[in-house]
Amino acid sequence: MRLIFLGPPGAGKGTQAEIMSAHFDIPKLSTGDMLRVAVDARTPIGIVVAEIMARGDLVSDDIVVDLIAERISDSDCAHGFILDGFPRNQTQAAALDAMLVLHSLALDAVIELHVESDKLAARVLGRAAESRLAGGVGRVDDTEETIRQRIEVYKAQTAPITQHYQAQNLLHVADGMEDIPQVTEAIKEKLKNLS
Ligand code: AMP
Repeated sequence: MRLIFLGPPGAGKGTQAEIMSAHFDIPKLSTGDMLRVAVDARTPIGIVVAEIMARGDLVSDDIVVDLIAERISDSDCAHGFILDGFPRNQTQAAALDAMLVLHSLALDAVIELHVESDKLAARVLGRAAESRLAGGVGRVDDTEETIRQRIEVYKAQTAPITQHYQAQNLLHVADGMEDIPQVTEAIKEKLKNLS
């Protein structure tokens, strides 16, 4: 199973991608997680991207395309993977298409989680507050200003790629406003019906 999860910040795509990763026993490849590891470890890439991520902007396509190209060649991806946070724009979607062709692989589905725009910022801030209450350090990009920027970037650059996948008949939209288990069920139902 090869899946992409699309959705704005606060839609719950990381959570659902994690659940589906366990369900299908395939790795979740999150470019955001990979970049945060690089930032924390202060690798050369981490140093370059830290400020861009803290602003809520997209890091350069070359960096994330290389991360994913390298990762999908790993043996644990042989039976499938779930992309969470990649692709984020048209250039990355085209690069992914080329990568899949190169490896003779195909996507099974693209799941877009839909959440009403005006609920997004509150959801991300709520999640950040919960994480701090649980003793977590939280994300540097979970401030109100940065969240608004991340939502704008999603609308301008990422949302348009749904058309790319709609044209390939791969797009499935799920209602991200439901509770987590209901969203999971809806996604499983859509994947069960794949032809
Ligand atoms: P995420 O954890 O997916 O919300 O990503 C956190 C941040 O990492 C984003 O706001 C971007 O700065 C950066 N990032 C993650 N994935 C990508 C990507 N595919 N392209 C560009 N920047 C990305």
